[in-house]
Amino acid sequence: MTYSPLVDLKLPPTTKKWSSRGGRKPNGMIVHHWGTTSMAGRDRLVYSSDPASVNYLIYDDGTLVGSVPEEYRAWTSSSFAADDDKITVEIQNRTAAPGWTISAAAFATLVKLYADVARRHAFTPSRSNIFGHRDFHATACPGPYLYPRLGEVATQAAALNRGGGAASRDDERDPVPSSRSWRPLGKLRKGSTGSGVRLVQARLHIKVDGKFGPDTDTAVRKDQRSRGLAADGVVGPKTWVSWLTDRDARLRRGDENVAVPIWQRVVGAKEDGKFGPDTEARTKKAQRDLGVEADGIVGPGTRSALLKAWT
Ligand SMILES: [Zn+2]
Repeated sequence: MTYSPLVDLKLPPTTKKWSSRGGRKPNGMIVHHWGTTSMAGRDRLVYSSDPASVNYLIYDDGTLVGSVPEEYRAWTSSSFAADDDKITVEIQNRTAAPGWTISAAAFATLVKLYADVARRHAFTPSRSNIFGHRDFHATACPGPYLYPRLGEVATQAAALNRGGGAASRDDERDPVPSSRSWRPLGKLRKGSTGSGVRLVQARLHIKVDGKFGPDTDTAVRKDQRSRGLAADGVVGPKTWVSWLTDRDARLRRGDENVAVPIWQRVVGAKEDGKFGPDTEARTKKAQRDLGVEADGIVGPGTRSALLKAWT
């Protein structure tokens, strides 16, 4: 079961919908969009018995999900021959027709995934080995926004690999004292170092080295812009809280993603990225202190109460 080391979570299809690669090795990537802004795209590929599956999914918030392990051919591109020797990826749309855009965060994850796949399978990212679904089938997929940018994806991935920017994830995190039910996180900006910076970098799916340098600054500003926040490059309360979940999304028990360790730091739980029973219990305690319903789910109400108490 091989997945990119960059994956935030693994969701293999719940029914068997993958095949052998017939001895062929991945030598490129095929990019798709979901054709929907909701999670319906993921649900079809992962949870339905529809004969469609994919190696990787990328959510609007940049979360990378491993689905069909790389050693198998996913059923993605309406062409078994094409999928036989390619890694396939499906991306959630930020907007619907006619633009079919994807978010900056999803785009950044796509670049990193492609760079990582190319490195591990020993090929150099170039427009000649990244494809759109439409290269193999009469479809608009991956849409008028993403398809013309595949060259850009290749250029950025190649630069990443040339720079030796091996995008690795780092799980070492400082323990947090847990005497309070919640605590504000520090303000971070260019020049900051340490475990808080690691949380920032993991959340933005950029290289995690614990040093807030120019790349982190650029990524923070870009992300802030995409969220309608002041793009000042300073990770303060508004930015931290916006990173807990996206829009109306909630964090709850069972979740495993890059937002979880941020919340775990807020409530002083072990920062393992898994929203388990201890995190849930601490969430309820913090919610009681914040004066919101203690349901153990971090949703919009908890976020805005936290922001209010924090600032
Ligand atoms: Zn497609």
